[in-house]
Amino acid sequence: STPTRWNPKDEAKHLPIYRHKTKLIRAVKDDTFLLVTGETGSGKTTQLPQYLHEAGFSRNGKIGITQPRRVAAITVAQRVAQEMQCTLGREVGYQVRFDDCTSQDTVVKYMTDGCLLREVLADPALSQYSVIILDEVHERSLNTDILLGLLKKIFFNQSKAAKQRSHPLKVVVMSATLESDKISAFLGNCPVFAIPGRVFPVTCTFGFAVGPKDLESTGYVKEVVKVALDVHTSEMAGDILVFLTVQTEICHVNPPPLFSPPTGRSVIERACDLLFEKAESIDYRYDVEDQTVEGLLILPLYGSMPTEQQRQIFQPPPPRIRKCVVATNIAATSLTINGIKYIVDSGFVKQLNHNSRVGMDVLEVVPISKSEAQQRAGRAGRTSTGKCFRIYNKEFWEKCMPEYTVPEIQRTSLTAVILTLKCLGVHDVIRFPYLDCPEERFILEALKQLYQFDAIDRKGSVTKLGELMVEFPLHPGLTRALLKAASFGCQDLLLPVAAMLSVENIFIRPGKPENQKEAEEKHKGLAAKTGGMNDFATLLSVFQSCKDSERPSAWCKDNWIHWRALKSSFNVETQLRDILFRLQQKRDFPKETHDCNKSELFRRCLCSGYFTNVARRSFGKVFCTMDGHGSMVHIHPSSSLFDQEGELDWIVFHDVLVTSRMYIRTVCPIRYEWVKDLLPKLHEVDVYELSSVARE
Ligand code: ADP
Ligand code: MG
Repeated sequence: STPTRWNPKDEAKHLPIYRHKTKLIRAVKDDTFLLVTGETGSGKTTQLPQYLHEAGFSRNGKIGITQPRRVAAITVAQRVAQEMQCTLGREVGYQVRFDDCTSQDTVVKYMTDGCLLREVLADPALSQYSVIILDEVHERSLNTDILLGLLKKIFFNQSKAAKQRSHPLKVVVMSATLESDKISAFLGNCPVFAIPGRVFPVTCTFGFAVGPKDLESTGYVKEVVKVALDVHTSEMAGDILVFLTVQTEICHVNPPPLFSPPTGRSVIERACDLLFEKAESIDYRYDVEDQTVEGLLILPLYGSMPTEQQRQIFQPPPPRIRKCVVATNIAATSLTINGIKYIVDSGFVKQLNHNSRVGMDVLEVVPISKSEAQQRAGRAGRTSTGKCFRIYNKEFWEKCMPEYTVPEIQRTSLTAVILTLKCLGVHDVIRFPYLDCPEERFILEALKQLYQFDAIDRKGSVTKLGELMVEFPLHPGLTRALLKAASFGCQDLLLPVAAMLSVENIFIRPGKPENQKEAEEKHKGLAAKTGGMNDFATLLSVFQSCKDSERPSAWCKDNWIHWRALKSSFNVETQLRDILFRLQQKRDFPKETHDCNKSELFRRCLCSGYFTNVARRSFGKVFCTMDGHGSMVHIHPSSSLFDQEGELDWIVFHDVLVTSRMYIRTVCPIRYEWVKDLLPKLHEVDVYELSSVARE
């Protein structure tokens, strides 16, 4: 008995938040800061902005809602546009890095926390907004934590910036029920509005397969698939949500084939393939008696997937078909999928962690925390009782899983954020109001790196270069290389590279072995075109060859390149070019001359940004980093320099992947003379000198 005309607006009236509409609007009116808590799925993210819009808040400025995740910002905006019956990008829009879907008419604006941080930089009074909603604060993302401190600093005691506004700004902080006392206390004991939610009991069972000894293996993918199929063939109707990581598959075969994690398939895609294969072979007539379920619809869900595909996730499956969503952690709190009754929890998550041993941020797959596991399980109990199947055993739970997830601010590099704070005039970055203070040595490390990049001086003040650098939403090293190239007038060499390193990987690594061979050959051919000894140059060449070809998408298909990813890098390149152009117009932009050929110039520019990532071959295929950590690293097999190690001496690289070894990716040979004057900078400054200034 489905109504013929389905209206999402009617559906929204059944959400727990609906009954509190009037009181919520009142609460926002009453105070500057308000904390709203409620179970995931109660309607906070999609409904509150609409309520405030209806109540007239948008007459004084936009209603801005931040999300830590890019996909969440986009999907939620789509949903709300649908509910408000408007075209996305008009009244309701979103903005994420390199993708602005808003217009003059936009009054409800979803955006990533990173985007709002950039807006604060340009306009600390946030004069375009009447309300700022910081959402998903319990996720404790670095940018949200920083925004929380900044908004407190600017609007709590009505700073000079705040006084310039014609209307006072309202700040709503939203979070799942965790840590609400702490957040309210941080905001001067601001009022807390708790939305009572209904949750149904979820029975959790532990598995046998994964224990403390399995931390290093990727066997959990197979186990997850097995458990999901067990659920499918033996449990009553209801959809399945599988939590996996997005770590790219690592091949442990020795010698490794030309595998390439940046290009490789993610464990999500692999799990989906396996599930698909196995579900195909189930004979539903015999195996699944008494069940109404006759098939399995498998849908992946991860950050970089096409938006069209994401839409399908929220649609109910066809009759008698069970939906199985294989997701990253994004489905834990940011997105709610209706109809989920079963959870399969891998127990792992992909995390960006600062590795002090390496002196860099590295992507790692780590066990989730116990609170995270509870959150995942809870997703099965939204509309009725549910079941959660954990693939790990009780010992894993006790020995490997921490109680709570460590906030990002305490585990990732702070370089970019500290530069932003400094540019906002926050000189004392150590006594900034942090919800949880990062370790002082992380702050010092960030200051040191900024000093090495010439973004701040010895007194800790932002330099001219630092002011230019902060304008780019890129890693500071990459920005520096780009600015160097611009000073030589050869930005065309670096812009495409910077753009391509900012999008998802463009090289396809097919699943089928016979295709793999062909893809490898094609990629080798692309590298060979440039002389074959510089991965950055390969990127540049791919970019240009594709742009110059008559049918770019066909060119990509032919060369095993992700057309969608490459296309978005075209867009990113244009945006970076615009930022650069604007800066070159406005300020006394540095200018330098040179007398070297193009290849050398290109590599010299790379050196000026990547001198923190210099390594020298020490023996065999082993390189030693020159950053003072002296880490032993190997060239990743995806590099065109792999197996050519014998011919190399000094190199720079883009990033590090830690598996059984430390692999460096995107590599380029250099000459010692090019970094000779830069390397001493890595050891020159005593961080305590910088810190005393920081504390001043
Ligand atoms: P909260 O922020 O409290 O976790 P949300 O506002 O995100 O809650 O979700 C409220 C409801 O809206 C949920 O039932 C969810 O399934 C639905 N919803 C959210 N986004 C979409 C979407 N893109 N498509 C369909 N339904 C959605
Ligand atoms: Mg939400």
